[in-house]
Amino acid sequence: MFLKKHKTNVNISELVLYFSCPRKVYYAQRDSRASATLSFPQVEHMILRETGLSYPELLKTYSSKDEELFRALEELLFRTAEEIKFIHPEELADVPADIIEEATGNLQSGLRNISDNLLSFLRTESDTGLVRQLESFRPGSLFHSELLGLSGIPAGIVDIDGTLSPLIIKTGRCPDNGLWANDRLHLAALAMLLEEAGASPVKTGIATYARQGVIRRMNIRSDDRRQVLSVLPKVRRIKDGSMPDRKESALCENCAHSPVCNVQSSLASKFF
Ligand code: SF4
Repeated sequence: MFLKKHKTNVNISELVLYFSCPRKVYYAQRDSRASATLSFPQVEHMILRETGLSYPELLKTYSSKDEELFRALEELLFRTAEEIKFIHPEELADVPADIIEEATGNLQSGLRNISDNLLSFLRTESDTGLVRQLESFRPGSLFHSELLGLSGIPAGIVDIDGTLSPLIIKTGRCPDNGLWANDRLHLAALAMLLEEAGASPVKTGIATYARQGVIRRMNIRSDDRRQVLSVLPKVRRIKDGSMPDRKESALCENCAHSPVCNVQSSLASKFF
């Protein structure tokens, strides 16, 4: 395969959207109105994601002191709720304060579980070096690959054996073992981006499942990289105007694009 200069740049966030539903990429490209006002789950996601960015710092400071870690988590959550509008002023401009308060209350009920899981992580992973590696965590910045025509910002960067490796924060349900397939691909895409900036192959990625306080490491496999490469031209085609088939799933129920997506699908089936 020859990599050439691409006219249509793809952002990692569009890849992630594609993994969840290809049509979402199409609508996100054309209709920004659907995402103009954030829904309650989106506000919750934003607060939780921001809170998850501070888990590495908490682990460094509160190793093995159960109640202290729990209190620190509580403080962190309330501070994040206060600061969130300063961090994301545009997205949260139309969100009333009571929605942020309610979302924070919801998240507070899960803090004990997060605290227990973080402490268990400290106990089980201290020998593997992952706890030490997380100490090097810093928030991610923008990376761009000319060869892949791909840009993106990892949630964080961690130094793993001298190689800068990506860390992502997920706010949905955590799988029983390992990572969800889409999260593997997200990390693989970020690894490929980081490689163009650094000199060595990125072999590892880390996923933080913030809602449960679970942190997992994965080896980036060739198969994940292959899948990312195969999806890139498909995302590019959608961005250039081609509407993908509707992919009916559980996501459709709460999807902001659902009304227009349903109509366009029935029209398409009528004419073709
Ligand atoms: S309604 Fe379903 S198929 Fe349509 S964009 Fe949303 S998730 Fe995708």
